[in-house]
Amino acid sequence: MSESPQRPPQVHRTSRMSTRAVVVGGSLAGMLAAAAVRDHVDSVEIIEAHELPDGPESRPGVPQAAHFHVLLSGGANAIEDLLPGTVKELLGAGAHRVPMTTNMVIHSPEGWYRRWTRDSHYLITAGRDLTDSVVRRQVLKDPRITVRPHTKVTALLGSSRRVTGVRLRAADGTEAELTADLVVDASGRAARTPQWLAELGISGLAQDRIDSGIAYASRIYRAPVSTENWPVISVQADPRSGAPGRTGGIVPIEDGRWHVSLIGTPGAQPTREEAEFEPYARTLRHPVIADLLAHAEPLTDVVMTHSTVNRRYYYERLKSWPEGLVALGDSVAAFNPVYGHGMTVAAIGAVALRTRLASLGLANGLSRKAQRAIAGPVELAWSLAVGQDIHYRTTKGKNASTADRLLQRYVSRLSHTATGSYHVATAMTEVLTLQSPGTTLLRPGVLTAALLGPLRPQLDRPTFTDGERRLLADAGIPLPGLAK
Ligand SMILES: Cc1cc2nc3c(=O)[nH]c(=O)nc-3n(C[C@H](O)[C@H](O)[C@H](O)COP(=O)(O)OP(=O)(O)OC[C@H]3O[C@@H](n4cnc5c(N)ncnc54)[C@H](O)[C@@H]3O)c2cc1C
Repeated sequence: MSESPQRPPQVHRTSRMSTRAVVVGGSLAGMLAAAAVRDHVDSVEIIEAHELPDGPESRPGVPQAAHFHVLLSGGANAIEDLLPGTVKELLGAGAHRVPMTTNMVIHSPEGWYRRWTRDSHYLITAGRDLTDSVVRRQVLKDPRITVRPHTKVTALLGSSRRVTGVRLRAADGTEAELTADLVVDASGRAARTPQWLAELGISGLAQDRIDSGIAYASRIYRAPVSTENWPVISVQADPRSGAPGRTGGIVPIEDGRWHVSLIGTPGAQPTREEAEFEPYARTLRHPVIADLLAHAEPLTDVVMTHSTVNRRYYYERLKSWPEGLVALGDSVAAFNPVYGHGMTVAAIGAVALRTRLASLGLANGLSRKAQRAIAGPVELAWSLAVGQDIHYRTTKGKNASTADRLLQRYVSRLSHTATGSYHVATAMTEVLTLQSPGTTLLRPGVLTAALLGPLRPQLDRPTFTDGERRLLADAGIPLPGLAK
């Protein structure tokens, strides 16, 4: 059924005098959705399958928190826009603000990135549970927003033209219905929304699954040096080599700890064996991570995940989309997490939802227009992730076409240039942090710079600042081991 432009969807009337939004899922996208809609309804009820802890504790709804999470500046700025003061709260709680690439030691497939000094793009690094707890606290300060824990949404109420609420199942099996003027689905990577839509008679949903098959193994260490201003360290796989990809990273988090993830494609997947963790780090394209871990104390077991497939539902392309429903976050598109885009896409999408609500209110085709707006950042992150993943031989779901290979050659050329060109490095960072569209990389100045190539010679080893060298020396960690 298609939307008729002559007959805009009717404003939904219920017997209630007040308006209510229901958010499915109380993780990051759910909390940001609540923040986005709160000024446009009288109350927001978040339905969460599990308990939401008060503080930064791990919880079953977000098992991926065991793996390092970086929040890109595009996402941090969007969160700040929705919930002013959150970044300060996060930093106050021990998160780190890592200017890109000033505080990053990155071995890309094209070489070591220079530590350009700039402050416009950054990462926030923290344990994912800390990020969630700070955002949660900010959102739940608002008395209009409440959480119903231990409750699952099992279906959507309404019709293919309008969603009018959700069916609920509490932990004790009790079923109930909850009406809503707007339902925001933020139920994550395992969302059942396509089935729920089919039950309402909506069919023809297109989806993509592109699976590089990568596995993560992660562990937290007590850092042997102060994590204040300590850089993110990353050694990246080279998909062009034809060999299975091996990637690793050390991310400084709160309480003087390092969150370490080691990541491999089929044929090079890490294992959950503790004894194999550090030896795996030594198989990366450079030993810098292994050399540092040799001096750090492990605090946790090794945790693994294979939940890394790029999976996208094209809701925005459906011929009909019901009023009263919007999907956000991983429920729309989940990405290979190695590119660090999921939280940022959810946050930018939440801002887009708030903008559409501000101009359209709860009617006037809001849902469809919001869904299309949410697809914008999804598309950019999707093309960045899939554009890399299709070059691994083991990737399932899509093969690289000639156009894909040409594009990758250009991106590789850009990345090579970025190792010695501030201008190109900045343009790339702008796009990778989702602060600018992909077309930024086709600006005449960037194209010319790519043609000229790097203006400075390639670095042959990781660079550490004088301050970092002093920290290492004070901790008795030899620098020479860091040189290749
Ligand atoms: C290994 C790994 C590493 C990652 N690293 C990064 C990174 O560095 N940077 C980054 O930005 N992103 C990263 N991500 C992605 C990031 O974790 C997700 O993008 C983010 O959690 C999406 O949030 P969400 O709220 O959409 O979904 P989720 O965090 O998955 O939350 C879904 C919530 O919905 C609840 N729920 C589900 N179904 C129902 C239901 N029927 N009823 C009620 N409640 C329900 C769940 O309990 C859960 O609380 C990583 C992901 C993985 C797997």
